[in-house]
Amino acid sequence: SPLCIGLLFGGQSGEHDVSIISAKAIASALSHNPRYQVKPFYIQRDGTWRSPDVSQQVLDNGKGLEESELLTNAAFFLPTEVQQIDLWFPVLHGPNGEDGTVQGLLQLMHKPYVGNGVLASSVGMDKIAMKAIFANAGLPQVKYVALNRWQWQQDQQGWSEHIEATLGYPCFVKPSNLGSSVGISKVRDRKQLQEAIASATSYDPRIIIEQGVTAREVECAVLGNEQPQASAIGEITFTSDFYDYETKYTAGMADLIIPSQLPDHVAQAVQSMAVKAFQTVAGSGLARVDFFYVEATGTVLINEINTFPGFTSLSMYPKLWEYSGIPFTELCDRLIDLALERK
Ligand code: ADP
Ligand code: MG
Ligand code: MG
Repeated sequence: SPLCIGLLFGGQSGEHDVSIISAKAIASALSHNPRYQVKPFYIQRDGTWRSPDVSQQVLDNGKGLEESELLTNAAFFLPTEVQQIDLWFPVLHGPNGEDGTVQGLLQLMHKPYVGNGVLASSVGMDKIAMKAIFANAGLPQVKYVALNRWQWQQDQQGWSEHIEATLGYPCFVKPSNLGSSVGISKVRDRKQLQEAIASATSYDPRIIIEQGVTAREVECAVLGNEQPQASAIGEITFTSDFYDYETKYTAGMADLIIPSQLPDHVAQAVQSMAVKAFQTVAGSGLARVDFFYVEATGTVLINEINTFPGFTSLSMYPKLWEYSGIPFTELCDRLIDLALERK
C-alpha cells in the first residue's frame, strides 16, 4: 500500500504565504508517484490545524482561507486524519514551524519526518544560539553583540558605547529568533541604533547586533544525513540597501544567479563551510547555508543556516539542486528517503 504522507503547511510565521506556494509545488511533485498518497494539513495563521479536505482547497487555490472560512476559538486539536499518516513532510518556515516546535510534536507522534530534528531546527532559528555554536566550531562570521531587552533597559548608554566601540557603524540590529528579514534594521548612528533596538525587541526579547559588511551574498544547499552533499553555489543580487523583506518577496527586486561566478577556491570554501555548519547544528535532510563573500579581502563569512529554506519552484534551494543534477521531483523523493533512513 502507498506511503501516506502528511504535508504540513501554512503556519504562524510571516512566511505563511510562501509556505503555501512551496507546499503546492511539493504536492504536485509527489502526486506523480504511485508510491505516495498525500494528505495535506493546512495550519492557519493562529496555529489551528485543518483537515485534509479543507487543506486541499487551500493548496488548489494557492492562498490561505478567507476570514469566514477560518476555524476560530478552537482549543488546540489535531484532525483525526493525523492517525493515518506514515511520514510527515513539514513545509513550514519561521517560528512555530522551522524552529523545532513542530518537529517536537512530530517526534512525539513516533513517525518519520522530512528534514531537521528538534535540535538543528531550534539552533538554526535562534541567531544567538546559532552564532555561539558556529563560533565554537571555528566557522568565521561577522563580529556581533548579543543582548536582551532587560540588559538594554538597564543601561542603554553603556550598551550603545560598547556597540560603537566593538562594531561601529553601519551595523545590523536583528531579533534573535525570526527570519525573512522581519524586524531587521541597518543603522548608521546612535539615534537609529536606539530606534532599531526598540523595534527588534518588540519582536523578540533576545536580539543581536552585527558589524555591517560590504559583501556579495552567496548561498549553498546541503542535502543528506550523515554524509551530506553540498550543491553548486548561488548568489543573490539586488539594488536595495540590503536583502530586506520587501526585496525578498517583491517580484523583480532580487535576482538569483546560478552558479555564482566565484574563484574555485572560494566556491570550495563555501561548500565545505556549508557542510560543516550543517553537521555542527546536527542537521538532517536539508538546509540552505548563507554566506557573505567579502570580495575586497577574499574572505568568506557564514551568515546563517536555514533549516527549511524556501521551496517554491523558483526558490534558491531547489534551483541549486536542479543545477547540480537533482530535479525537483527527485529532490522530494530523496528527502523522503532520507527521513525514512533516519528513523
Ligand atoms: P534572516 O534570517 O531574516 O534572513 P539575515 O541575518 O540573513 O536574516 O539578514 C537579512 C539580510 O540583511 C541579509 O541577507 C543581508 O542582506 C543583510 N545583512 C544582515 N546582516 C548583515 C551584516 N552583518 N552585514 C551586511 N549585511 C547584512
Ligand atoms: Mg534566516
Ligand atoms: Mg537570511
